[in-house]
Amino acid sequence: MLVNAKSRSVERRIEEGFLKISTEKQTALNWVDANEKMISRFDKKIWGYAEPAWREYKSAAAYCKLLEDNGFKVTRGTGGMPTAFLAKYGEGKPVLATYAEYDAVPGTSQKSVPHREPRDGLNRWAAGHTDPHSALGTTALAGVLAAKEAIDKHGLKGTLKLFGEPAEKVCGSKPVHAAWGYFDDHDASICYHPSGVNTALNEIQMGAYWSVIFTFECLEPEKWFRPVGPMMVGGHAGGRCPAALDAICLMYTTTKYTKEAMLPHSAYWTLNEFVMVAGQCTSDNLPPRIGQIQYAWRTPTLEMAQQIFHVLENNARHVAEIAFCRLTIRWVTKTRVGLPNNAMTEITYANHEIVGPPRYGDKAKRFGREIQKNLGLDPMEDPFTETCQRLIKPIDYEKGQRSTLEPWQMHFGADDYVDYTWHSPSVRMFTAKAVLRPPKAGFVYPHWASNAMAGFPETIDPMIFAGGKVIGATLVDLLTNPTELNKCRREFEERTGGGIGGSKWVPPLLPKDFKAPVDMRWPEYVTTERGEEWWIPTPSE
Ligand SMILES: [Zn+2]
Repeated sequence: MLVNAKSRSVERRIEEGFLKISTEKQTALNWVDANEKMISRFDKKIWGYAEPAWREYKSAAAYCKLLEDNGFKVTRGTGGMPTAFLAKYGEGKPVLATYAEYDAVPGTSQKSVPHREPRDGLNRWAAGHTDPHSALGTTALAGVLAAKEAIDKHGLKGTLKLFGEPAEKVCGSKPVHAAWGYFDDHDASICYHPSGVNTALNEIQMGAYWSVIFTFECLEPEKWFRPVGPMMVGGHAGGRCPAALDAICLMYTTTKYTKEAMLPHSAYWTLNEFVMVAGQCTSDNLPPRIGQIQYAWRTPTLEMAQQIFHVLENNARHVAEIAFCRLTIRWVTKTRVGLPNNAMTEITYANHEIVGPPRYGDKAKRFGREIQKNLGLDPMEDPFTETCQRLIKPIDYEKGQRSTLEPWQMHFGADDYVDYTWHSPSVRMFTAKAVLRPPKAGFVYPHWASNAMAGFPETIDPMIFAGGKVIGATLVDLLTNPTELNKCRREFEERTGGGIGGSKWVPPLLPKDFKAPVDMRWPEYVTTERGEEWWIPTPSE
């Protein structure tokens, strides 16, 4: 059924000169080598901003400025999202897209030092880059700038699009760009992410991520039943209605109970919650009037995602009634599941083979050994895993994934890149950051260790340079090799039953005029008369 049969290995294709290192491709590769310092500095700047989802103001501005300085035409605030953008370069077909992400994760603030310490002036609950999306965006940027150099130097025809995609941690922006029609002119897309492996996804892609915010408001507390007779006391001594904080607690508890009844315990689906607003902050004898709880769930199929929503909505309706509240439901996001394109995977992985894995040098290894020492471990000669320093063929990587999944399962985890894959042939590709080698099976390093390495140039830059080269080289292939691009296109048409609007095509799940929930109470830095601080007050230590 699927176009999976591979008669020729990637190696043979390279040997045959099918995806040879053309002069144009060499230009892109050289550009990355020549600009390592600039790329590294930019990455460190974004890492330092560490702005969480929907609040990436400085990060997005830094991208827009750099891209404009490099001759790109930049549109800010695309899709009604203040920290999104679209930067374009070149003209005509093919239109090739990739994207930068730059959102950090609340609760993970860590300096780039080999011991546990939050960033200067912040508590540990401030945001920090974990995946890290700071490097994700910088890698895509490097790839696009490298391809731009090839366009300029060799007069290539085609358009490069670099999207600024905020709020990936809530899978926020790509489904919105897709719904608003931003992806419909793409001929191919490259979807990059930092990883512990160097490869590209084959048939198994990532799953769906859906999320809603339930708001409970107590609008008429005076209408709640009250006792008659001597117990009927007014003011601050009277009985009061349960209201919004009880609604949040009931929703939380009821959902924990009904989780048992949502879906079978298999296929790695998950459901998480976040209390955004919890009643009110004073302890008067008044009913808390407003509460908000966000739910986010990851599933390998859309049917499973829908089933979870049924249960949540049912819980919320009943809870609202118990707590004497009005319920409103606001969608945060709704992604599809990833659509593979083996032809794109092949082109991309051939460039992995050309570029090779990232190489971590002495300074990186010393940093790794310092961390090990500070954790009470014996420092290792090579403190990094073998896996992060070699390539894995897509087919072999998939075998590893397959062994842990249900036989029917074709999707795993979640990431909103999946919304690119339904609008043009797309590839999901990875290069590896430095990953610490466990001293024995089952040993787990604390999160701060990898977060520290995400901000230390020597342990993150090699991943960025390798990824930038693979992206740049792949973009050049797609610009210069119409035969290859057509092969990707044919596979896309086959898989979608005729392309966008085709018989097997899944349209965006959000409406065309969807308004991203940027106005909600997301974690952020706030500036008051006390100065700038993280929204959750600093605990005294
Ligand atoms: Zn990520």
